[in-house]
Amino acid sequence: MQAFTLTPEQQAKDIKPRIRAKADNAAGHRHYQGKGIVHSIESCGTVDGPGLRYVLFLQGCLMRCLYCHNRDTWDLHTDKAQELTVGQVMKQVMAYRHYLRATGGGVTATGGEPLLQYEFVRDWFTACREHDIHTCLDTNGYALHYDSILDGLLDHTNLVMLDLKQIDPDIHKVLVGIPNTKTLNFARYLSERKQPARVRYVIVPGYTDDERSANLLGEFIGGMENIETVELLPYHELGAHKWALCGDEYKLTGVHPPPKETVLKIKKILEGYGKNIIY
Ligand code: SF4
Repeated sequence: MQAFTLTPEQQAKDIKPRIRAKADNAAGHRHYQGKGIVHSIESCGTVDGPGLRYVLFLQGCLMRCLYCHNRDTWDLHTDKAQELTVGQVMKQVMAYRHYLRATGGGVTATGGEPLLQYEFVRDWFTACREHDIHTCLDTNGYALHYDSILDGLLDHTNLVMLDLKQIDPDIHKVLVGIPNTKTLNFARYLSERKQPARVRYVIVPGYTDDERSANLLGEFIGGMENIETVELLPYHELGAHKWALCGDEYKLTGVHPPPKETVLKIKKILEGYGKNIIY
């Protein structure tokens, strides 16, 4: 297991460039022109929600997770993205809808961070619900605006899959590049709305694999009745090559997936808070 060893000076040096790089995304958030900026589409995904799913990977993310396996989705505007209307996306979804329904599946908006394009996702999910297609929002919870658009989106969302990366604010800043305040507030908002949600927790050796971190998570979500399950996701190195392709250094080189015993230890801790654990 790698120790958590960055000094405060190293942390500040590491975080600032990651925050500066996000200005374009924050500005682009409010420029919706009826089209989604799409990184890629998976027509029969199996890991982003229940059953088979039509998965839309949207461009843009304001977080900078050290382990990000979708590094190429960070920028909202990029030459490689496609811009699609809800009508264009729905044409594809309707072609798959019988397969999706037969497996208890539906559609998933992920990324990147779909909340950055929340107007598009609201319109897409509204169209899906009109055809009784199950909708899932896979999000890091970094909601910038609490308004009628967000509520409209959540009103048409059957399941929120919320990444809670680390409850300790200092470790979160190092691991994710920004504070966790907005994500925790979003989790509380979902709880107030009684919005069905599943938490996803990535077990990263040296950052989130310790008992204290697991207990902090358990204490935070223990009383949230809307959270049906917690999905444990052992860290993996599969997206590391994308960092090099984007001209960045992958800082978790040398960190390896956690052993099964570690995952089982965290599972047991979270079960102690009354949650159903998927692993
Ligand atoms: S929230 Fe997701 S897409 Fe954004 S940096 Fe983290 S892992 Fe990557």
